[in-house]
Amino acid sequence: MFTKILIANRGEIACRIIKTARSLGVATVAVYSDADQHALHVKMADESVHIGSSPSNESYLVIEKVIQAALETGAEAIHPGYGFLSENADFCRQCAANNLVFIGPPIEAIAAMGSKSAAKTIMADAGVPLVPGYHGDDQNPDIIKQSANKMGYPVLLKAAAGGGGKGMRAVYSETEFDEALGAAKREAINSFNDDIMLVEKYLLKPRHVEIQVFCDSHKNAVYLFERDCSVQRRHQKVIEEAPAPGITEALRQRMGEAAIKAAAAINYEGAGTVEFLVDTQGEFFFMEMNTRLQVEHPVTEMITGQDLVEWQLRVAAGETLPCSQDQLNISGHAFEARIYAEDPDQDFLPATGVLKQLQTPLENTCVRVDTGVVEGDEVSIYYDPMIAKLVVWDTDRERALQRLAKALSEYRIGGLTTNIGFLYNLATSRAFQDGDIDTGYIEAHEQEIFRQRDADIDYAAPLAAAAILEQREHKAIEAAKRSSEPNSPWHLNNSWGLPQPRLKVQIQQAVVDLTVDSMVSVDGLTVASTDTGFDLFTRNGFFHCTEMQPDFGTGNEGVDGGNLNAPMNGTLVAVLVDTGAEVNKGDTLLVMEAMKMEHTIIAPSGGSVTEFYFQAGDLVDGGSELLAFEATSP
Ligand code: ADP
Repeated sequence: MFTKILIANRGEIACRIIKTARSLGVATVAVYSDADQHALHVKMADESVHIGSSPSNESYLVIEKVIQAALETGAEAIHPGYGFLSENADFCRQCAANNLVFIGPPIEAIAAMGSKSAAKTIMADAGVPLVPGYHGDDQNPDIIKQSANKMGYPVLLKAAAGGGGKGMRAVYSETEFDEALGAAKREAINSFNDDIMLVEKYLLKPRHVEIQVFCDSHKNAVYLFERDCSVQRRHQKVIEEAPAPGITEALRQRMGEAAIKAAAAINYEGAGTVEFLVDTQGEFFFMEMNTRLQVEHPVTEMITGQDLVEWQLRVAAGETLPCSQDQLNISGHAFEARIYAEDPDQDFLPATGVLKQLQTPLENTCVRVDTGVVEGDEVSIYYDPMIAKLVVWDTDRERALQRLAKALSEYRIGGLTTNIGFLYNLATSRAFQDGDIDTGYIEAHEQEIFRQRDADIDYAAPLAAAAILEQREHKAIEAAKRSSEPNSPWHLNNSWGLPQPRLKVQIQQAVVDLTVDSMVSVDGLTVASTDTGFDLFTRNGFFHCTEMQPDFGTGNEGVDGGNLNAPMNGTLVAVLVDTGAEVNKGDTLLVMEAMKMEHTIIAPSGGSVTEFYFQAGDLVDGGSELLAFEATSP
């Protein structure tokens, strides 16, 4: 085994690798850019080397700097993680030239799988089933179009050098073809500086099922079963699981053996993933092979009880595989949800900002959080906006999914927009619970996942009200505990007892006025406060809510603006108008203070205050009516 390795990566995967290295007694070297000077992976490693400024093409992607850092620190091997240099054959060559072990497959295997087109030729020769299509060298647009026409639409154009869904376009008819090819090529040039294209039959409702393979340098090879990564947005994975729901033992074995055949065809060593599409008939087709550790490898670890990074280190150090095929078993079921700083309602636009609040669910043998950030860190523009991977395990799929939903509802992230609510809606959607998934799942269940239906608001409104009132009660109890007069009636703020307190709440996009006159059951409801309001995790999905100033109520219906009730428990600090005096709409009538913040109460219309129920200095319960108002003009 190595004594010291360098990790040419950042974030959660760098931390993940350091953990295993440490457990094996292997010393670690981190590399970091300007932006990552205080990052968790730097703190966790035994040593660290600064390799450049924040943009990755000036740091994490600069081969010479990474190699130099390894040589300087005396590391014997380099683990590339995923992304960055992990599938870069040039990097691999440079490692070899400098007597550094690359913890990954041989150079030739990376090079062979580097082009989706070349990979397909190799796999076809090895007898691995392929999605029908054209992946030839002749890049004449007419030739590509003719093969699309012959195959029949829809077809999928892909960049041979592709990854991350870039340079990919679905084409539904011949008339769209030329334009789509042009667009895909431009994107491919921009992303990979290479616009070689292939075209495939666009399968309808396929599942993405991939096989984890492992090979050593002694000609041993095993498959560690499959992962289902069908739930995708923009062709990128969102929630992965293992094993794949509903897959038969026979299909698993056939796919596993095909994957090993694929690996053998390129003399593979180390961890690899063979990605297949499975059609509605249960036929499977090779898509591509990823010659590295996958983001979603933890679900495989959870169901097999193996540490895949440990396997990688052992294989790279020349040892044989830790297990043979018949020693490997599937136990239970695991899910991984990718927690991103992004806005699902804005077409998954990446978000940036400081993680002002970051609290993860409690980790145990069934709940694992792989992350590279702590509270106060920044999700910057420079790197992938993934905050963490939440991984859960249980004895069966139903229980594992329950755990996933619960753990998501316990995740607290404040300061930036995340996809947690979206993931929760996904995890609790009916068809997902039934395992009825394919790569079009999110589009097909948009209504349920993005929750914009009136019925949802009717359901969520009383829960939001209950949450607000509970929170007020909780605050009152806390205040009473701190107070010198804990038995003061002021503190007995049982909001339920108030005569019909009025509330106004924004639930998702809808603004709702509520009169809470009956107890609402809050069983199975988790409420999480955030910097922008509070989140409700309910049996029927996720709702983001913000309490607003309630509308002027009884007796003045139809009058806009103005709230004549105390917005929260607080002190009345100033009465600004005299009883009976004429005021205009919008004039400030009185000022309250709560939690060091002032709240003004304004005139809802022209008119006058006929009576103030409190005086300056009084403590007022949230929801209490403050004054009587007589309107003269609307
Ligand atoms: P990338 O390498 O850019 O991530 P992949 O080739 O791995 O692209 O494909 C990503 C996803 O696109 C797949 O998981 C699948 O959902 C979808 N996809 C790819 N090829 C096809 C196809 N021929 N038919 C239908 N869907 C496909």
